[in-house]
Amino acid sequence: KKKSKKEEKPRSAKSKPSLYPNPVTSFGTLRSRYGISRALAENIHNQGYTVPTEVQLGSLPLLLGSPTDALGPHALGQNGAEKEASQNSVTSLDLLTVAPTGSGKTLAFMIPLIHVLQQLRRQENQDVDVASKKRTHSGPKAIVLAPTKELASQIANEGRKLALNTGIKITYVKKGMHLQQSDEPQEEDENGVPPVKADILVSTPLSLLHAVGDEPKDCAALAHIRFMVLDEADVLLDPLFRTQTLTLWNSLTSPSLRVSLWSATMGSNIEQLAKETLATRRSALSLPPSP
Ligand code: ADP
Ligand code: MG
Repeated sequence: KKKSKKEEKPRSAKSKPSLYPNPVTSFGTLRSRYGISRALAENIHNQGYTVPTEVQLGSLPLLLGSPTDALGPHALGQNGAEKEASQNSVTSLDLLTVAPTGSGKTLAFMIPLIHVLQQLRRQENQDVDVASKKRTHSGPKAIVLAPTKELASQIANEGRKLALNTGIKITYVKKGMHLQQSDEPQEEDENGVPPVKADILVSTPLSLLHAVGDEPKDCAALAHIRFMVLDEADVLLDPLFRTQTLTLWNSLTSPSLRVSLWSATMGSNIEQLAKETLATRRSALSLPPSP
């Protein structure tokens, strides 16, 4: 049996040791600890969630961080160190989570996503000329990808319940949907259907690729994406989906893109897949291999 250093140390009877930094032991503490909005806190409560599951208590602190951390270390300012960090973030992951099916991964990524987008919104509204009271919508900020339509629509539904009254709009993107193609003022399409206004797009890779058009890199709907979540990432990076997933990933050009991968444990070779993916990305961007 391997004995780690940690295990040899005497444990204090009072503090139960935890594998995770600052575990969240109750959803009720999220508001005081991380400043999540009243609406988000109420939605969590009204859904009947009180005690976080293991995957939630471990990942929530990492993704919520302190109010400024949550936007990422590179979100604010552009001095030398931050520039370097932001270049690194192009080929790095925020988080790779492997946890069994049914362990509550959806909540674990949706809560931080909604929180951070609310913070971004607040920041944007401060920047807007207060006198004009103009509220801008600069397009989707986050993408959640899942391998099947059923899963994607479930995630969107669960997300909407959490996003009630937060001002964050979650859209399940179906094939044939009309996403904004340019930064020009938005027009209705030939059928009189207005373009989708959303903060979070939830979709399968294939449906999203259909919706963004032939040149995803030029699609305005992807131009402001700051967060990408790959749910069932082991499947999204397996040979069947890999090309589509990577086409979308490589179309996201924000220097402060933050990516998290979520995967079930069974038969998952996600760590290897993630390494290969990031290595491919580094070479595609002509960066030296990571140490
Ligand atoms: P996973 O994606 O890890 O397979 P899900 O996110 O689909 O798991 O969650 C499985 C079920 O557990 C869902 O019905 C969800 O509402 C429920 N659930 C998630 N977190 C909690 C929690 N903290 N307390 C009670 N139920 C929860
Ligand atoms: Mg899931």
